[in-house]
Amino acid sequence: MMSLAPEFEAWTEAPAKGELRLIPIGGLGEFGMNALVVHSARSLFLVDCGQLFPSDDQPGIDSIVPDFAYLEPFADRLQAVLLTHGHEDHIGALPYFLRRWPVPVYGTAFTLGLLENKLREHDLDLSLLRPVRDYGRVKVGDGEIEAEWIPVTHSIPDACALVLHTPQGVLVHSGDFKLDPAPLDGRLTGMARLEELGDAGVRLLMADSTNVGRPGRSPSESVCREGIEAALEKTDGRLFVTTFSSNIHRLQMLVDLAWEFHRRVVVLGRSLDRNLQLARSLKLLELPDDILVDVKDAHLFDPGDLMVLCTGSQGEPMSGLARLLRREVKGLPMQPGDRLVVSARAIPGNEVSISRMLDTAERLGAETSTDGIGPVHASGHGSRDELADLIRAVRPDQMVPVHGTYRNLRAHGALAASLGWTPDRISLLDGGLCLRLFTDGRLDMPGTVPVGKCFVHEGVDHMVDARVVKDRLILQEDGVVFVTLLVDPQTGDLTADPSILSRGFVMLSDDETYAELLAGVARRAYEEAPKVIRKDPEALRDAVRLALRRIIRKTTQSRPLVIPVILDAPAG
Ligand SMILES: [Zn+2]
Ligand SMILES: [Zn+2]
Repeated sequence: MMSLAPEFEAWTEAPAKGELRLIPIGGLGEFGMNALVVHSARSLFLVDCGQLFPSDDQPGIDSIVPDFAYLEPFADRLQAVLLTHGHEDHIGALPYFLRRWPVPVYGTAFTLGLLENKLREHDLDLSLLRPVRDYGRVKVGDGEIEAEWIPVTHSIPDACALVLHTPQGVLVHSGDFKLDPAPLDGRLTGMARLEELGDAGVRLLMADSTNVGRPGRSPSESVCREGIEAALEKTDGRLFVTTFSSNIHRLQMLVDLAWEFHRRVVVLGRSLDRNLQLARSLKLLELPDDILVDVKDAHLFDPGDLMVLCTGSQGEPMSGLARLLRREVKGLPMQPGDRLVVSARAIPGNEVSISRMLDTAERLGAETSTDGIGPVHASGHGSRDELADLIRAVRPDQMVPVHGTYRNLRAHGALAASLGWTPDRISLLDGGLCLRLFTDGRLDMPGTVPVGKCFVHEGVDHMVDARVVKDRLILQEDGVVFVTLLVDPQTGDLTADPSILSRGFVMLSDDETYAELLAGVARRAYEEAPKVIRKDPEALRDAVRLALRRIIRKTTQSRPLVIPVILDAPAG
């Protein structure tokens, strides 16, 4: 997240009377970590509090959460978190956030159900959870602002758009949405209510930009039936299907099809198990009696009588599917005659692990299919025509694209422009950029507030600094070189040649000439250091490090981590 806007200098001062600040502290200019600060003289709350999944260039990191630095000066005034839906990029940072700010969290039943499981794992207070219904309204904080949840269709049950009735006007936040005309649960997007709000006047619309690059409309969730049906028809052995474990409607469709094709269902993977249970308890999922078969009993069934639902659509190494492919699941081999269907899109960055997973399945003799035999996945985000429909329904004074890369946000702004919105009615926000609305109708962008990413390495009970992640990356790429200098504490002279040790660095351990070259450079850097630097251990180490880095880069084009160790030689 890098913004070219100037710093909002007065950000540590509370908003004045009549001023409302909207600050995305994550989720703009990136996918994931959605969190929006809403701040006025009397109100302070968050809309969503998501995490970002780490990529290959963040080794050892389990999750990435927003830096909440903006909230610190107002720490005792925080009132609530309002949730649009239960995807990880909207709720994943809450365990870390609630530990610091144990405030009430409002959301629909499935959203809070998913969150409850997380809070349990983190030993957090479940009484903070406050369920709301579709079209339900809640007064936030001291009641100055009222929030309203409007149902939207998305790839998870109970997703909502959020309306904030504020003294500065009505603000609509779309959440993640599509306009599915035939959702499997019949719960349609509340367009009538959105239009009604539009008629009465909406000050600002923040809308999902994920699929702005796709023309037309996103296919309805119901089209996936076609591809799965085709897969069932073409498969004599077991049908393995991997999908996102929170996509309950997809899972319902899979179970229904299994039933129609006289197959029993095995569920493999912890989050799938848990989410199915949750959905059943909330009556969001109906399972025919006895359709589920415990994995321990899977060997009792003919391959053609089974459908296996598993986690791992992104190639995650600990998932049900990955264990299966490593043949760690007893009694449930993957073999010729079987088929693996990936009923999910590849989240950018996961393409390589997914391709590797498909290859492994084919090596075991199974057929694999993604969309080849018919659609087996439908996006949960609306395409251009749906985004245009929302803008036209709500007709906001101000259009603010959210949820997407900066390119997505700009394209979404351009879409609004093509519908007749003039440039002064489109605000392009970015991570940390503050948008202010005033009761007198004015609007401005005073600059950015501090934002950033915090790295979570589970088991380490504090956040991992960004520098640690950078060091890990260097270690992974180019290794590490240690140089040890022994110094006579009396004279300040070196008592021996510097010793060089390395790990993961290209230098071969038996390449003595190269080690000597480095030792010589370290010695010279030490001996030529001016007196003032010699007296300062930190500066001295820096001088040696710099000299070594320079010669290593020149001779090998690599940049390992260089760690000088300067020790007093033992007396005698
Ligand atoms: Zn979502
Ligand atoms: Zn999202």
